[in-house]
Amino acid sequence: MLADYQIEHRYLELPDAFYSRVQPTPLHNARMVCFNTGLAADMGFHIGDTEQWTAIGAGRELLEGMDPVAMKYTGHQFGMYNPDLGDGRGLLLWETIGPDNRRWDWHLKGAGQTPYSRFGDGRAVLRSTIREYLCSEAMHFLGIPTTRALFMVSARDPVRRESIETAATLMRVAQSHIRFGHFEFAVDTGGRDTLQNLADHVIKLHFSHLQSLADDERYRRWLTEVVQRTARLVADWQTVGFCHGVMNSDNMSIIGDTFDFGPYAFLDDFDAGYICNHTDDGGRYAYNRQPEIGFINCQYLARALLPLMGEDSVLEALRSYEKAYNEHFLQTMRKKLGLALEQDKDIDLIMETFSMLHEHHIDYTLFFRALARLPSNGSGPVRDLFVDRTVADQWLETYQARLDTETRTAHEREKAMCAINPKYILRNYLAQEVIQDAQTGNYDPLHKLLEVLKYPFDEQPDNERYAALPPDWGKHLNISCSS
Ligand code: AMP
Ligand code: MG
Repeated sequence: MLADYQIEHRYLELPDAFYSRVQPTPLHNARMVCFNTGLAADMGFHIGDTEQWTAIGAGRELLEGMDPVAMKYTGHQFGMYNPDLGDGRGLLLWETIGPDNRRWDWHLKGAGQTPYSRFGDGRAVLRSTIREYLCSEAMHFLGIPTTRALFMVSARDPVRRESIETAATLMRVAQSHIRFGHFEFAVDTGGRDTLQNLADHVIKLHFSHLQSLADDERYRRWLTEVVQRTARLVADWQTVGFCHGVMNSDNMSIIGDTFDFGPYAFLDDFDAGYICNHTDDGGRYAYNRQPEIGFINCQYLARALLPLMGEDSVLEALRSYEKAYNEHFLQTMRKKLGLALEQDKDIDLIMETFSMLHEHHIDYTLFFRALARLPSNGSGPVRDLFVDRTVADQWLETYQARLDTETRTAHEREKAMCAINPKYILRNYLAQEVIQDAQTGNYDPLHKLLEVLKYPFDEQPDNERYAALPPDWGKHLNISCSS
């Protein structure tokens, strides 16, 4: 295993309460399903001996320097504080630093029980592991901050969910696996010193430009950045049509990555109130509530930080959420609509567009892609998405009037719009198809889909099928939340 990386395990510098040392519980008959060679190379690794990676994924072997720990955190789940959380089935193995000086946490998800497993078996099933692998890579190639998938292995071991499934593990990597919930735990158990220790750890590793500031200033600026990153992340989700599904504060990354992929969905037909998590009866995490929930999660974090910062600083940081969200949302929607000039009334056009898409159940991704290609393909593909073409025509007229005030050429606009309006997204039915094949031992469709999702903004003439409307069976799939 040739490599160009340094080993660190800075998480172990935190007080003991933040983790428990746990060895993985081995899986049987493991085989490699996907190995992300491009990412591995960025991290300073080469695939080399696949068998060794498979053994690591199966929890049978560790590289020298790996020292697995389950992280302790707490958090608010569906608005209720739960003090009993922590890595119930994942282990942080070590941290490495790649040739570009980027830090990577290696987290083996599905590695067996830990002291924080509660009633869980510590395992992850093949289905949910494939979903996480696919979505984290899809997000990355869409340009949205996310944890990544380094490799996944599947095994024969049976796992009981709604039915009997089989086990898999994911080597999830990210610059940090520290969650908002780590801070909720810190204040809950250790108080001010523990909190300060954790905050300084995060600032040192991930916000080093703030490190030399005096305490008050450092924490205020840091919280402001975390709040703003969270706001911008949620704005990215809204504008690409992504529904996270379980925005509990233990699933919120302190560096603003999309984190923990459960019953997520990319919207097909635009539905503002879409709930992708079928156990979310009240629709707390519905698509159109995500911006507000992002803010509520920032409030949980801010409340935990009160012993460290004055109330005024905390409130000031929180106030930056709305502005960061609105600015990023508006900027991205202008780009999606191809508006290079900023006009006050743009927000009205944007809101009108969302209302129309909602009312007429228009496919979100295809609509914007067809709009991007207007100069090349004309209005036909846009109109074809509507049952009532007069609705499309009226909207197109308003839109064209706005475009007439622009100065870019149609060709320039088309190029810019194609670079922000994806043609290929991870529709739930596409994931479902490759999962069904994988469950019979055929991983080729999974590999193929991963390749398609690497180039979401490109025309891929041979892969048109992946950009089509979902078939009837594939709309509003009831995705199991068990994982
Ligand atoms: P999640 O809903 O996946 O974010 O998980 C919430 C909490 O439950 C986390 O603390 C997980 O580690 C834990 N958890 C989820 N599934 C399992 C499982 N199968 N075994 C043990 N713990 C689990
Ligand atoms: Mg979680």
